[in-house]
Amino acid sequence: MSHQVKEIIKLMEDIAPPHLAESWDNVGLLVGSEQAKVNKVMLTLDVTDDVIQQAICEKVNLIISHHPVLFTTIKEINDRTLTGSTLLKLIHHGISVYSAHTNFDKAKGGTDDILAELLGIQDVKPLLPSPMENPTAKLDELFLNHGSDSSDSAVGWGSLGRIGRLPEAQALEEYLKKIKNILKTETVDFIGDPARKIQIVASCAGAGGDFVEDARKAGADLFITGEVKYHEQLPILDGDMALATFGHYATEYPAILSLKRRLQNFTNILQWKVDFISSKDYGNRFRRLRE
Ligand SMILES: [Zn+2]
Repeated sequence: MSHQVKEIIKLMEDIAPPHLAESWDNVGLLVGSEQAKVNKVMLTLDVTDDVIQQAICEKVNLIISHHPVLFTTIKEINDRTLTGSTLLKLIHHGISVYSAHTNFDKAKGGTDDILAELLGIQDVKPLLPSPMENPTAKLDELFLNHGSDSSDSAVGWGSLGRIGRLPEAQALEEYLKKIKNILKTETVDFIGDPARKIQIVASCAGAGGDFVEDARKAGADLFITGEVKYHEQLPILDGDMALATFGHYATEYPAILSLKRRLQNFTNILQWKVDFISSKDYGNRFRRLRE
């Protein structure tokens, strides 16, 4: 029996409740029909032309993207603009797009949690206090018995950024080299004394420039994120906290692979005939000339 887009949306809303999204964000079913049949779902950070081509070749019915395929108001859909031709292509090939952005950043098991896990941070807490209940997915509790999260179930999850401690203090440079391998990046930009020992680490997947000051106030020795603008970096020069940026893509892509495994797990248990694939890794297209 085929399943419908709306059934996949229900799973996604359990994992990343839409009400967690920032007010400026644009999440949900942005292209397509809730009633459309789904045999294959593709997970991706972005809906680029290559991603659409792959989706067409692999007969994908639904794309779940992290970054919304539509952000600003548009008044025409034609092939004179990039967004217009993207939408035309998707509609022409009957491909729906569902986006879960800042709601997936904040959610349990979302981009910020997965990054913190890869960074080896323990006793992880949200960087900012939040009045929201812990949005642990009901499906996780039901099927995967992720009850181990009970110690985290205090009010407070559902905000951007994470903070915690490394099991032992390490020299900044040594730690960054390790993380560079884990996040599969060739370079890392950083500010701070390479020999300085760090233990309290704050993190935010993607563009975390807004949280530099919060990380400092929370007592972090190091703040790790994807990218920070020059003027947001300047205060770091005068303070004690170190900063490291590994690239927007590298800090978010691991969560896409994790989400794919999680959705496949859920649907296997539910005995749905739906395949989940991820877009081809295009991280190597963000290049840096090094010689
Ligand atoms: Zn992002």
